[in-house]
Amino acid sequence: MKELLRRFAAWCGFFRCPLCMEQSGNGCNEVCQECRKKLPLLPVQGRCPGCGGRNDSALAICQACLEFPMRPYIDAVAVMEYTGKGREMIRNLKFRRSPEFARPLAMLAVEKLAESGIYFDVIIPIPLHWQRNLVRSYNQSELIAAIIAAETGKPLLHGLKKILPTRRQAGLQKEQRQRNLKRALAVKDPSFSGKHVLLVDDVLTTGTTLSTAAGILMKNGAASVRVLCCARTPLKRNSYVAKEKK
Ligand SMILES: [Zn+2]
Ligand SMILES: [Zn+2]
Repeated sequence: MKELLRRFAAWCGFFRCPLCMEQSGNGCNEVCQECRKKLPLLPVQGRCPGCGGRNDSALAICQACLEFPMRPYIDAVAVMEYTGKGREMIRNLKFRRSPEFARPLAMLAVEKLAESGIYFDVIIPIPLHWQRNLVRSYNQSELIAAIIAAETGKPLLHGLKKILPTRRQAGLQKEQRQRNLKRALAVKDPSFSGKHVLLVDDVLTTGTTLSTAAGILMKNGAASVRVLCCARTPLKRNSYVAKEKK
């Protein structure tokens, strides 16, 4: 029935591709084949487990990740690089109040997750502080996580909450940023204890947010944490003061 409705919607020309607004979005707002070719999608095989990006070193993690201390999550999948059309999609979702970009991003994530074969029991999004939630009226990571949950049949859990708004982290020292974040995040629903968690965020820049969140989950009894991000900022070496605006 769902499939029939989807085909009908595609035939009617509903739910166009949100990037070009011309081609049919497969009846459910997905990116069309033409636009898909322009996306900076990252390969799943041979990825760096620290950031989900390409592993450009002969070691277990990529050169950029070598700068960072061990992260408390064991694997990461990144859908694409935060450049070009990929960046455009995320910026539209995040800053231009276009929630219709959540579905195509989540569908690409579902594809990459299946390809990676990583295992998880529950899905937890990186939370937004309620003040920012009020301004934007939705949390982009939560929208994406909810669609992944619906598509994979795994429960969405609001395991974390943001108790303090974090200001722009740009320009701060790594240690200071980590301290700020640690104070800002807290456990909301502890039922992830004993479970394998998939932590979802929109953009991974330095991985500080995901690392801090994963650390809190592990400390509160998560069996393991793996990470999914929609886009990974191409990182120049020694440049971790990149913007991490939430
Ligand atoms: Zn298109
Ligand atoms: Zn890496």
